[in-house]
Amino acid sequence: MGAAHLVPAADHSAAEAYFFDDDGGVRLPASWRVQSWNGSSYVDVAEASGYPIAANRYNLVTFNAVSTTRLRVLMASGAGSVGLLEVKAHAQPPGPGPTNPPSSGWNPPSNLVTPLDEVWRHQEQTYNNGNLYGFRNYGWDQLFANGGYINYCVRWESSATVTAAQRDQIHAALARQYNKWMDVMVGHNGFPYTEVPVRVVGWAVRDRTQLQWSDNSVDIYVNDIRENAPQCAAPCGRFFNQNGQYPNCPGGAARHYDQSLWLTDGFGAGHGGDWGQRLPREYFMDNINATDMYALLHEIGHTYGLDDFYELTPTGQSRFIMKALTSNSITEFDRWMLRDWWRHLKSRYGY
Ligand SMILES: [Zn+2]
Repeated sequence: MGAAHLVPAADHSAAEAYFFDDDGGVRLPASWRVQSWNGSSYVDVAEASGYPIAANRYNLVTFNAVSTTRLRVLMASGAGSVGLLEVKAHAQPPGPGPTNPPSSGWNPPSNLVTPLDEVWRHQEQTYNNGNLYGFRNYGWDQLFANGGYINYCVRWESSATVTAAQRDQIHAALARQYNKWMDVMVGHNGFPYTEVPVRVVGWAVRDRTQLQWSDNSVDIYVNDIRENAPQCAAPCGRFFNQNGQYPNCPGGAARHYDQSLWLTDGFGAGHGGDWGQRLPREYFMDNINATDMYALLHEIGHTYGLDDFYELTPTGQSRFIMKALTSNSITEFDRWMLRDWWRHLKSRYGY
């Protein structure tokens, strides 16, 4: 490596080396060590803490502080060419980070580090950094604009009737599934909310008589048609008011909706995005008491930025909720993909 400057500001200095291993021609080194230039030759740094050799992550060594104009990493090759991606030198041992995580920080299991990196890089390529980071209506943005809750509108694209009991069951099922994702975040890496209330504030139908209740617990929108289906009023919808202001919503900002649960008779697919989730009505009603409603979980994942996996199979990960039809529930890999979104977006919200 080139010139590095370490100052004797602390008793110990540190260096990190990032090795990768592609299971082919590029492999881990058999050993490595850090040396400093003493004016006439390179000498090993003193009191090294040890030289770990883990694949696809930074390997940290601490050693007695040294004042020098040059450092180098000396490696003995192993089974193939050595895959050294990057070296960091520190005047002091680093604070919390990939090699030294606090309990609440970014600390995925080691077997997930590589597939998570692959997924994030794939997303950056697919969505072209600017679009990925410039988009401002992820579920995250909605959640933080509200200060910790999500409001829904139900778009009932069906001629079926709905009782008050069914209305409440639909709400309960939605909230229960939604919180399977939100619970992943509680207590993790500075995420501030310990629970995320999910409210249904509106229902949209073609014909008011389909809704068999007379209380005013939800706002009801009749025959307001968009995309050939009933919808709650646009002035109340986050999708239509991404500045978070709802001056023309009859119920005011408190009755705005962030997402729609769009249930369509005979729909042959599922869709999800910043606007909400769309599922076959029959599927939703048939699975209303299911522990895991996998199609809804998958589509809510999209609302929080998670991608589909039609072409990419992350290393070692073939069955998870975001890989359609391979898992009935949220897996550990799904959880860490969600947390990775938080890691990349949280500075937006001041965390
Ligand atoms: Zn999908």
